[in-house]
Amino acid sequence: MISIEPKKLQHMVRDILSTQSIEIGCDTCYAQLDQFVELVLEGKDASVAMPLVSAHLDVCGACREEFEALLFALRSLSQQR
Ligand SMILES: [Zn+2]
Repeated sequence: MISIEPKKLQHMVRDILSTQSIEIGCDTCYAQLDQFVELVLEGKDASVAMPLVSAHLDVCGACREEFEALLFALRSLSQQR
């Protein structure tokens, strides 16, 4: 009789989901970055709305720098009124 513990199964499913969802490249990330920054500026939870971009920013220093530069630029623009 085969029995898999529910906890083990949960781990397996989570592993499958996470390896699938983290796979976006810099090009895809960059293409969605301005949208991501806008969500952040609107005070929305960008990492929930765009988890793939968020995950990529966590692992990619180059895109993270790009994100912070863009965030900074847009933030200073929106303050100039
Ligand atoms: Zn990247």
